[in-house]
Amino acid sequence: MSDCIFCKILAGEIPSYKLYEDENTFAFLDAFPGTRGHSLVIPKTHYQDLFDTPEDVYSQLISTAKKVANALKKAFQFDGMNLFQTTGKAAGQTVYHIHVHLFPRWMGDQALGGWKPIQPSKKEFEKTRDLISANI
Ligand SMILES: [Zn+2]
Repeated sequence: MSDCIFCKILAGEIPSYKLYEDENTFAFLDAFPGTRGHSLVIPKTHYQDLFDTPEDVYSQLISTAKKVANALKKAFQFDGMNLFQTTGKAAGQTVYHIHVHLFPRWMGDQALGGWKPIQPSKKEFEKTRDLISANI
């Protein structure tokens, strides 16, 4: 896509701190890191989000994410890592070229907020399970 910032990075039109690439994926440092080493993995083909990305491409993303995560761990010896992918504005997606975040964590860094549990009733849990199961 011509106006996609990640496609422009892949085309070399915008510089990035490249970490790794293979035939299908590309990994680089997030330009606005939440912690040291915060990195992104993207497919070389443009897909918007979780829902339009084919399963094989998603698998390639996760495979590369694992490889880069191992390197990050060796480099920084952090205490933990969040691996996440946002789909849609409500989830915090800002670049609509699917990407997986590798987010190193250190004890007490407070770099990401937690969530407040919604505390569903037993009946609500069952209804939620049934709705999802019926659609798999
Ligand atoms: Zn793109």
